[in-house]
Amino acid sequence: MAPTTTRRSRAGGRAAPRSRRWTSRAVLRAIEPGSSVTCVECGEPVKFRAKVKAQQAICNVYVKGVWDRVEHYHAECYTTAGAPYGEAQPPAATTPRRGAAASAAARPAPAPAA
Ligand SMILES: [Zn+2]
Repeated sequence: MAPTTTRRSRAGGRAAPRSRRWTSRAVLRAIEPGSSVTCVECGEPVKFRAKVKAQQAICNVYVKGVWDRVEHYHAECYTTAGAPYGEAQPPAATTPRRGAAASAAARPAPAPAA
């Protein structure tokens, strides 16, 4: 008659180490209207096109563990370039919390449209 309460022991839950060293990374993002960045690989502007649901690879480049810059690639150019900053991560659906990549990518350096 006793209700079987299965308690999951959460003992030993490993917390992610905070002191991780930031390294360069790439994320895939949809190209947004008004985007005025240039692909590092081919030198062409990474432009929003209404017809195509194009994606860009946004790379947060870290130099010696310190954020240095953001580089933009066409998604296909990033692949062509050999994924210099590792495999571009698709839009985070399962990321527990926003990393530096997401926040930095959300605010690209303002570049005046020529
Ligand atoms: Zn390109």
